[in-house]
This record gives sequence, C-alpha cells and structure tokens, in this order.
Amino acid sequence: MKKLLFASCLIIGLNAIGQVIIPADSLKKHVYFLASDSLEGRGFSTVSGMKAAKYIAAHFEKVGLTMIGESYLHPFQQKYGTTILQGNNVVGLIEGSDSLFKDEYIVLGAHFDHVAYDMVEGRKIVYNGADDNSSGTSAIMELARALVQHRNELKRSVIIVAFDGEESGLIGSGYFVRQAIVPIEKVKLMMSIDMIGRYAESKSLTMGAMGTLVGGEKMLEVLADKHDIDIKKTGEAISNRTDSKPFGDAGIPALHVTTGIIGPYHKPEDDAGTLDYLGMEKVSGLLYELTVEASNRGSLDPIDALVVKTKNKGIPAFRLEAKLNTGSNHHYYPKEFYNGKSKFSYETGLVAQFMGSDHLSLQAGALYSSMASDFIPGNFRTHSITTPLSIVLGTKMNQNIRQRFFVSFGAYYSYHFAGTVGGKSMDFDNDFDRDETGLVYGIGLEVMSVVVGVDFRYGLTELAKGTGYKEFRNRGTFFSLGYFF
Ligand SMILES: [Zn+2]
Repeated sequence: MKKLLFASCLIIGLNAIGQVIIPADSLKKHVYFLASDSLEGRGFSTVSGMKAAKYIAAHFEKVGLTMIGESYLHPFQQKYGTTILQGNNVVGLIEGSDSLFKDEYIVLGAHFDHVAYDMVEGRKIVYNGADDNSSGTSAIMELARALVQHRNELKRSVIIVAFDGEESGLIGSGYFVRQAIVPIEKVKLMMSIDMIGRYAESKSLTMGAMGTLVGGEKMLEVLADKHDIDIKKTGEAISNRTDSKPFGDAGIPALHVTTGIIGPYHKPEDDAGTLDYLGMEKVSGLLYELTVEASNRGSLDPIDALVVKTKNKGIPAFRLEAKLNTGSNHHYYPKEFYNGKSKFSYETGLVAQFMGSDHLSLQAGALYSSMASDFIPGNFRTHSITTPLSIVLGTKMNQNIRQRFFVSFGAYYSYHFAGTVGGKSMDFDNDFDRDETGLVYGIGLEVMSVVVGVDFRYGLTELAKGTGYKEFRNRGTFFSLGYFF
C-alpha cells in the first residue's frame, strides 16, 4: 500500500502537470443559466445576448482574468443592409509566467450566442442552445478559473474568449482576428470549444485539425490516453462551421473541439436537462491539460501545409491579368500654347505581375495599342505593340472581401508597326518615328479578381521626325479594366 502510494506520487511528480478537475457541478450551473428561457436563446445583437455577455464578463472578473483594454466586453458592429447590429465578444487574459514566452498566446474560445426564439401563435418558443453552445461557454468559464489558479504553470499566455455572432456567420471570431487586440501572429494555437455536452452519447471527442499543429496529434494521444477519452477525428482540415475558421485562415492551428452534432441540434429541445455534465467534466479536464502542455512546449508551430495554404490566400507570387484600357489620347505640343483634340483610343493585352511582398509588385505587359488624336492633316492613329513596366504599391489584400487598393508608376516602350494620318499610311521612313517611350502611372482597386482603375500615359519622345511637323507627343487618360486569372 505504502509502496504503491510512493510510486503514484513519483508519477505525478514526474508529470509536471497535476490533474486538475473542472467540476461538473460548476459547468452545470452556467449551462442552466445560459440555456434558461429567460435568456431567450441568446440571439445576436439582442438584450438577452447582452445579458449573457455580462454574465460571462462578471465571471471573468470574479475568477481574476485580466482585461485586455478597458473592459471584458469588446463591442463590434455588423452591417446588414441598412441596419447596424451590435455584438460583444467577452475577452480575458491569463498572463504567462515566462518572460520569453508570455508574448505568445493560446486562445480558448467558445461562442455564447444562439439562434434566439420563434413566435408561434403568440407563444415564444425559445431555442435554449444548451449543447450549442452553453456547453462550450461554461467550459471556457471554468477553464479560466482553473488556469488563473495555476497561472504559474503557464509559460505562454492564455486568452479566454466568448464569441458573439457565431450563428450569424462567425462574426465575433472574424472580428477578433481582424481587430487583433494582440498581434495575431502571436496567437500560436486556438481551440473553438463548440458543443461538448453529449460525450455519453457520442462516446468520443472530435479534436478537429489537431494535425495542423506540429506534433499536435502525438501530444493529444498521450493526454487522451491519460484521461481515458476516445478521440474520434483529428487531421489537418480546419472546420469552417465554427470559430476556428478565421484563425485557420490566418495560418493559426485552430481546433474544433466537439462531441459532435447529435441530439436536438438547432431545435428548441436543446435543453440544459439533456446534457452529460460528467462528460463535460472529462473533456474539460483534458482541455485544461492540453492548454497547460501547449503553453509550456518549446515551440508551437503550424504544419507547412497550413502555412502554404494561408500564403496562397494572399496574392500568388506570379499572376496574369487580361487588361483593357479605353479612353482618350491627344497630342501635346511642347512649343505651342494649344493641345490637339483627343480621340478615342484603346489598348489591350496581357500583364504579368510578380509579387515581391504583400505591398510591392513588379508588372510587365505586352499590349496592342491603338492611339489616336485629332491632327492638322486629319485623324492620326498609330497601331503599336506597347510594353509597359511598372512598380505597383498596394494595400494588403483584405482576406474577407478580397479587396485592395494600389497605385502604379513606370515606363513604356511602343513600337508603331503601322499608322494612318489624314487617311493615308504613315511614312515611317521620313515623317514619323516607329519608337516611342514615355511614363505610365495609375490608381486602381482590385475586388475579387477584377481590377478597375485609371491609367495615364505621358509620352516623352517626339512622334514626328524631320521638319515636316511641329514637335508633338502623346498624352492619354484611360479607364482601365482587368481580370486576374
Ligand atoms: Zn455552435
């Protein structure tokens, strides 16, 4: 007996992390409040949703989470047509104890909103959302308490977030990633704990995307064994049905922790009385240890596949654009006080773009140009091959709406292979030069793969040679339309 006791102490001693219990009763208390009829199904941007947010914030304060900013509540707005809806993420921090690692973060998140209620014949039918997702919310609330109590066991910092607006399209989590109250690249691991209330029925726990963390599946295997939990699914696919998605899109290993969609999913019957609280205790115990373990690891890295995928969501290193410039060109006479009248002109062709960074690219094109102008002997039009070469400075691609602004500037060379003046073929041997160089610059907007903008051409060389004509150069303004493929 004594020997045995000694042996088990030794095991606990060797295992730096002691077993911490997240008691079923505490989890149950939160679920019974959040999933009560009085919270009316915690609809996004409702008074009841706000009630839930304040309840969670009060708990964060009570257990000793640190605020990031002025409040535990982080309000955000979402536009729906002409209506602006207001939501709140509830955020608290447990600062890591290691001076080197505490600037890195593990995010434990769970959405607290649900789908509100229906009115049927004047009666309110509340969708209580006990499993979805009072279960996950109660888990992060009690994980917060346990982690604060054992904060000296954490090297990295842990952020606890109750997300709003998940059911309306991952709004709160998307906002959290975009707003970046901590530098988002410092978030090394994220868990979206969404529906963990039915372990007794599922008899297994899904830990989706555990494989996106280098060594993640191995780490989980050891812990799951210890906690006697059957793990169902891990892999490298980041779920887009829960708050892990915006984090995964940002290249962060982001897990979906769930006992699965079983039972009355998105139905009024998803009630507090139907959950398996001992199962939630079990799952929460595992998540506690996983968090502590992860916070102490030498490195927390995303697998290469996740990094590559994320990079490709920005702008590819090389891409081709089909381009059409339509507008007007006129002749500029440097030694006169007048300009030629402008005529419809256009150019079209292909432009290749080489991305140097998120903001800087080099662009080279091959275009057919038809530049015209009103001219004293009659209409003037050249047919040319033009090769513009430009530097493009752009804003970073907005991942959500795939949009960026840019300015460009550079130079072009045109070879005039044909032309007419006053209805006759141009005499390139005596009157006109075949070569033209000049400057190009422009501004534009890229949305999805479509580019719209304004381009300017500023010719530097004389178009005429010999003495037959006054000196004149091309000037053009074009509406530019492009498509990246
Ligand atoms: Zn959910």
